[in-house]
Amino acid sequence: MQVFKFGGASIKDVKAVKNIAAILATYKEEKLVVVVSAMGKTTNKLESILHDYLSGKDYKLALNTLGAAHKDIIEELFEQPAAVINEFNNLIHQLENTLIEHKNEPYNFLYDAIISMGERMSSLIIARYLKSEDFSICLLAAKDVIKTDNNFKEAQVDWKATKEYMSPSVASLHLKNKIVLSQGFIGGDDNGNYTTLGREGSDFTAAIFASCLHAESVTIWKDVPGILNADPKKIKNAALYNELSYQEAAEMTYYGASVIHPKTIKPLANQMIPLYVRSFQTPLETGTLIHDCLVEHLTPCIIMKEQQCLITFKVTDFTFINEHNLSKIFQALSQQRIKINMMQNSAISFSICVNEEAYKLDPFMAHLKEEFDILYNNKLTLVTIKNYEEGIIDQLKLNKQVYIEQRTRKNFQMVVSDD
Ligand code: ASP
Ligand code: MG
Repeated sequence: MQVFKFGGASIKDVKAVKNIAAILATYKEEKLVVVVSAMGKTTNKLESILHDYLSGKDYKLALNTLGAAHKDIIEELFEQPAAVINEFNNLIHQLENTLIEHKNEPYNFLYDAIISMGERMSSLIIARYLKSEDFSICLLAAKDVIKTDNNFKEAQVDWKATKEYMSPSVASLHLKNKIVLSQGFIGGDDNGNYTTLGREGSDFTAAIFASCLHAESVTIWKDVPGILNADPKKIKNAALYNELSYQEAAEMTYYGASVIHPKTIKPLANQMIPLYVRSFQTPLETGTLIHDCLVEHLTPCIIMKEQQCLITFKVTDFTFINEHNLSKIFQALSQQRIKINMMQNSAISFSICVNEEAYKLDPFMAHLKEEFDILYNNKLTLVTIKNYEEGIIDQLKLNKQVYIEQRTRKNFQMVVSDD
């Protein structure tokens, strides 16, 4: 059994949905679990509908537009769309009812109930379409098998419960259907509420299915040929990796390579399940294979993480930076769940590079401002070069103002602005 994941870009319109049907047609003899994301940019649109609703702005127009875009796709995909349109309208009604009924619930609870709609819509349309094209397929609600805590918006998976629910459900569905199609990004808590696993979490969902079901492999179908050594939108002539070790791939995601979600690798590596990253546009190409291997002389990988904030703490009373004041900073970081992307210390100062998330950073700095002089710069980019070579560092420094840099045997990192 294999697990496939199709992201938003791979199902964004009628042509794209037909294309994934063509890909799946070449696997007709195999048992598959297929995980889909929301179509195109639906998740962002749902986020803004929710924000408009909560701030009393008109949300209906945006909701109608989103509904109409999905219905246009349904009309074009199906010869007789009425039944699917009906099912789809039910989802839109549920969405509106949820907004109204749960308006005063905590924000993160409402967020998950609303934002999970993107995947519920896409999976409904795709499952019904594949069925109409004679695929042996059924739809499985991720909420019923991916069990999480109720840390809404970033729910943690309860692996034991998930295995208990998922294995028998999928096994029994696979008795009659070749494809079990489910939703990425969504889970459910003990009380039957929707939860989500964090933005872009559908890759992780694919890994959860694969790990719990001991799949042969996972394939993430993307709009790039595989894992490249740089973002082709930013660097010319990016090179494709044919294979990478789990460790190398996990580190890339840690430093900000957005091609796969950071949580995806671990569950697969633990069970040595190979992960393929392939292009849905050129499905005959093999893409990148991530597995247990040792690749000598890996091409340097350049990762640019934007929207970074560099914060420097200085001790106000001429004492040095020591364990005592470091521990205060770390405690405050952990309280706000702020992740450090890079750090450096000197006798009297300590600097961290973190994601620019004002809602976390403002209270964090307010909490520490009595004890430290705090300086910070926003709108910076953290550049990481894994397996660096000097020539590349010089090239990347051209026309940049470097705020801070550091190197280990394998990695070079610098925080820069585009001045
Ligand atoms: N639709 C969700 C998002 O855009 C999950 C995903 O695409 O992986 O964040
Ligand atoms: Mg997405």
